[in-house]
Amino acid sequence: DQRNRVVFLGAGGVGKSSVLQRFLFGTFSEKYKETIEDLFPNEYDINSVNFKVDFLDTAGNIAFPAMRRLSIVNAHGFVLVYSITNEQTFEEVKQLWEQIKEVRENYQEIPCVIVGNHLDEENNRQIERFDALNWAYNEDLGGGFIEVSAKNDVGISDVFRLLLQQVKKPRVKH
Ligand code: GDP
Ligand code: MG
Repeated sequence: DQRNRVVFLGAGGVGKSSVLQRFLFGTFSEKYKETIEDLFPNEYDINSVNFKVDFLDTAGNIAFPAMRRLSIVNAHGFVLVYSITNEQTFEEVKQLWEQIKEVRENYQEIPCVIVGNHLDEENNRQIERFDALNWAYNEDLGGGFIEVSAKNDVGISDVFRLLLQQVKKPRVKH
């Protein structure tokens, strides 16, 4: 039977592991522990239909381009994470999305959520919400954009709600 793989991608330190940790276990740690690759198998019953979802947490390290490409090839869904306090990490999300479009012919049908983490650090904001949302809309990802704080548990459950929404109703090409 089919397992669905949702891959977390984004620059190192943006909070990929923290978002997952918060969602799956309800916890947060200030300590930074670098990820190599972690797979979290899950099962959900939605309207009495059983969904098997594996969350893949990645290093987000572009030092391993082949590994990154493989994770894109094998994904059934994407969560692309940046930090609202670091412009470079948003650029990396844009690059990731370009690569996904390149590698996956049916990218319009693949659930994808863009996550701006570190919302608790509003004073250090470098990426305006409007600019990020505008980019997302232009890429037909507007319905899958959200700003969150893994630290303060803001918006985290919405990340997964937005993913699920796209499973039920794929984005359309314009
Ligand atoms: P990853 O490399 O993308 O997996 O990033 P991590 O999840 O390991 O987080 C990197 C560091 O940022 C850790 O020290 C976390 O405690 C911290 N961090 C993660 N999310 C947040 C957040 O929403 N707000 C703040 N202030 N710190 C965060
Ligand atoms: Mg990590």
